[in-house]
Amino acid sequence: MKQKKITLSENEMPHHWYNIIADMPNKPLPPLHPGTKEPIGPEMLAPLFPMDLILQEVTTEKYVEIPDEVRDIYKIWRPTPLFRAYQLEKALDTPAKIYYKYEGVSPSGSHKPNTAVPQAYYNKKAGVKRITTETGAGQWGTALSFACQMFDIECEVYMVKVSYEGKPYRKIIMNTYGATVYPSPTDRTNAGRQILAQDPNSPGSLGIAISEAVEVAAGDENTKYALGSVLNHVLLHQTIVGQEALLQMEKAGDMPDIIVAPFGGGSNFAGLSFPFLRLNLEEGKNIRCIASEPASCPKLTQGVFRYDFGDSIGMTPLLPMFTLGHDFVPSPIHAGGLRYHGAGVIVSQLLKDKLIEARAHHQLECFQAGVLFAKTEGILPAPEATHALATVIQEAKRCKEEGKSETILFNLCGHGHFDLASYENYLSGNLQDYEITQADIASSLAKIEGLQPA
Ligand SMILES: *Cc1c(COP(=O)(O)O)cnc(C)c1O
Repeated sequence: MKQKKITLSENEMPHHWYNIIADMPNKPLPPLHPGTKEPIGPEMLAPLFPMDLILQEVTTEKYVEIPDEVRDIYKIWRPTPLFRAYQLEKALDTPAKIYYKYEGVSPSGSHKPNTAVPQAYYNKKAGVKRITTETGAGQWGTALSFACQMFDIECEVYMVKVSYEGKPYRKIIMNTYGATVYPSPTDRTNAGRQILAQDPNSPGSLGIAISEAVEVAAGDENTKYALGSVLNHVLLHQTIVGQEALLQMEKAGDMPDIIVAPFGGGSNFAGLSFPFLRLNLEEGKNIRCIASEPASCPKLTQGVFRYDFGDSIGMTPLLPMFTLGHDFVPSPIHAGGLRYHGAGVIVSQLLKDKLIEARAHHQLECFQAGVLFAKTEGILPAPEATHALATVIQEAKRCKEEGKSETILFNLCGHGHFDLASYENYLSGNLQDYEITQADIASSLAKIEGLQPA
């Protein structure tokens, strides 16, 4: 009998997150103060994050122990299954072996609780009473609402107003977990009031929602802020995914030649790939790791590596990253989680050093891949995850042309049950690709020319 599903028992769940900084040949450059342009110390982040998370942001320790309290909650859905995609392989008539790690089994349906839970835990340990955050498509807000409920912390979510109105089910699940959700811009903050004064009908944006959540956290000593991607400690927490997958591939008696994951800010890509990249860095293995991004928001394939702001308003420290410019506004594609102008610092350095690869896909190709996956493997992928699938299919076809039986592993980082309106649009032929011109990219990049080169 062919083995389809490779599982781990609770006892086999890894005890450590892996910190790739320990093994990077070129360490990430430091964040800079937006005013002085001097490297900032951990104390500057103290109003927003508890000290344990700030220390994880800068640690060079190779393995960080997962606290028992976090492991206990992980056990609600972890270890997650790893599958061999026999039916997809057959449909593609490829000699390649395709595996996927499935993170859609978490309470909120994506990989995001892997970091939401430890973030809530370290906040609780520091005596924090309330956490604020922003959410765009709603996946991060849902994950944090769940995690805060586990540790009895209040959760306040600033949800971009267009999503709040267009994705009511996401709001309802957050409310069910006990979170308070506001359509941003609100009249609760200076940032929100300022925007509303200019445009009372503002649809909101992630940048505005971040400003509101940060303002509230900075103004109250019992309140902190949490971010769902990009930062080093977020990527660290996500490595539980790859730590498990490594054990599962060993159980399957196989090893990936290629790892693929969709890319928004880098957390699910890092989560799956970093524990395997360790084998490249430590043992000279040659596993290709490919980040799949939308062609309409191509920071990795068409952006530049330089210091830029993490938010669109320009309040955060300057970070050395691949970016399209902080006020780049991506087209309204359906993979909401991938519409971010920049990439995390660690992943950016790895790409600059050519230790990882990147590829861009248009959304029609992605949805086509997603529908093929649903029809063959039965799971309806999140629109974000279909970007990885598009890359996987290209690689599987290449294997067929070259007559090679390579092993491909990808991150099915979430299911698409809250994204059915997008599938409906695709199935009824109402979805379009968005062409982004070189002139659009150039004009966005021109605005950050004055910022520090990295
Ligand atoms: C948030 C999200 C992403 C993008 O964020 P990363 O930090 O790049 O992982 C991708 N897929 C899903 C399902 C998400 O919820």
